[in-house]
Amino acid sequence: MERTADSKTSLRIAIQKSGRLTDKTIELLKGIGLRFDDYKRNLMVKCRNFDVELLLIRDDDIPEYVQDGVCDLGFVGANVRAETGADVRVLRGLDYGVCRLSLAARKDGAIQTLEDFEGKTIATSYPNLTQQFLDKHNIGANLVTISGAVEIAPRLEVADAICDLVSTGNTLKANGLQELEVILESETQLIQTNKELSPGKKKLIEKFLIRMDSHQQAERSRYIMMNAPKSSVPEIKEIIPSLNSPTVMPLADEEMVAVHTVIPIDQFWVVMERLKKEGATGIVILPIESMIL
Ligand code: ATP
Ligand code: ZN
Repeated sequence: MERTADSKTSLRIAIQKSGRLTDKTIELLKGIGLRFDDYKRNLMVKCRNFDVELLLIRDDDIPEYVQDGVCDLGFVGANVRAETGADVRVLRGLDYGVCRLSLAARKDGAIQTLEDFEGKTIATSYPNLTQQFLDKHNIGANLVTISGAVEIAPRLEVADAICDLVSTGNTLKANGLQELEVILESETQLIQTNKELSPGKKKLIEKFLIRMDSHQQAERSRYIMMNAPKSSVPEIKEIIPSLNSPTVMPLADEEMVAVHTVIPIDQFWVVMERLKKEGATGIVILPIESMIL
């Protein structure tokens, strides 16, 4: 039987099978319109409406799968990508899975500054990144590589300090540790293989990125509608950090107009307060599904 165009060009994307990045990544893929059957039970899932198949694996394996071209794209933490040193291209940084890799030690212990790490033992799941950091700062320390529950190593006297991922810092605190030095700021990244891709796959990646960028842009924006005195329109135009000129429509009351536009979500409250001062009423904010600039 002849192979369909699909099977020759399907984009293969690696995502974490089960962990902190899984739900957010699936949510993002669904958000850009991709539909999948039960992804929780299978290692490989075909997308129903886009030439994509997902490979669900441990996050540690993602950079190498992408490097070797087994997968064309992958969603993985910058921490894991950097630790593996995989030769891949970073296409996008995404605003989830945000954390940092930090050196930490007992709160009131002997290690209080970077220099104090000299000659000490550090437990970590990130031996490469930790070693690179220590070398850069000319510090000689012994590394103990452990794969999980690194934060209890000092209490078990397996190590004097740790180098581990931190997001809120609560886990460190609960274990009597203090964060001393951030060695890497991390977020989820979309990575691409450096292997040569067919023109079909390149096209698919282009389409995939357009969808992703529109989705990200939409997530960061809101559609805003309000009524305002006609005389305030020049001031309102000044206040609104609009992408385009706002839509201004007449109302039954000739002194009033309706103003519709899109604003960045991070400026929402500042903009809102200033609009009210200009006499805007009936302000309605709506989420946006997608946005093509
Ligand atoms: P796997 O079974 O896939 O190897 P894992 O246990 O190594 O899973 P998770 O704990 O699910 O990985 O974390 C996945 C990623 O989530 C991390 O590599 C990191 O990029 C990100 N992350 C964000 N915040 C944290 C945090 N506080 N602790 C650990 N990882 C975090
Ligand atoms: Zn892992």
